[in-house]
Amino acid sequence: MRIPLLAGNWKMYKTVTEAVEFVRGLKEALAGIQGVEVAVCPPFTALYAVARELQGTGMALGAQNMYQAEEGAYTGEVSPVMLKEIGCRYVILGHSERRQYFGESDEMINAKVKLALKHGLTPIVCVGEHLKDREAGNTEKVVGEQVRRSLAGLSAAELAGLVVAYEPVWAIGTGRTASPEDAQQVNAFIRSLLAEMGGQEAARQVRIQYGGSVKPDNAAELLGQPDIDGALVGGASLKVESFAAIVRAA
Ligand code: PGA
Repeated sequence: MRIPLLAGNWKMYKTVTEAVEFVRGLKEALAGIQGVEVAVCPPFTALYAVARELQGTGMALGAQNMYQAEEGAYTGEVSPVMLKEIGCRYVILGHSERRQYFGESDEMINAKVKLALKHGLTPIVCVGEHLKDREAGNTEKVVGEQVRRSLAGLSAAELAGLVVAYEPVWAIGTGRTASPEDAQQVNAFIRSLLAEMGGQEAARQVRIQYGGSVKPDNAAELLGQPDIDGALVGGASLKVESFAAIVRAA
């Protein structure tokens, strides 16, 4: 039985003050909720303060990125060692905004995934096709390549413990969601690929989220699909009411 993971990707939103206020509200809104795992992924600057707020709540902390080295002369970067110490359980890797605006390749993401695992962080590895890929009928080809390359060289146990987020790029921040059937189809495809890479048991355990314009009014239908094990939520994770409603829908 896979426990759904509802993760809020705040992107470059919320100061420390706003973050702390948000988490206080979220704790109240979700008090006593069971059967799901909830994580928030604030910007680096707010991680420490949010970690303190989350203590004893069962909610998890995630970062939105990291660098593929433990330490060194990499001005402006943050390492997995630092994220682990601060209390992160998760780290989002390979988000389409990182791929698009910061030139991250599957090879770079693969190096980050391996180093995150080495330091006890659980990567949330994002994959997803552009609109032109979907229109050309290349969704599985593109997503398949991203999965194979960014998860290359991982053991079955490592694959089993991962989170993969299927996020069609055309659905991110656009208000356009993949239909539950389309999302289910790609998630099932990803699971079959992971079975080829790491065996049936790993594929059965790995959690595969959907992301892209998840909202309170479409969450239940998406999350009701057999191969959708939670959601990576951007815009709708920034308000307590909408994020809590999505968590309740799961
Ligand atoms: P969105 O973003 O929910 O605002 O579409 C999702 C994401 O980028 O992870």
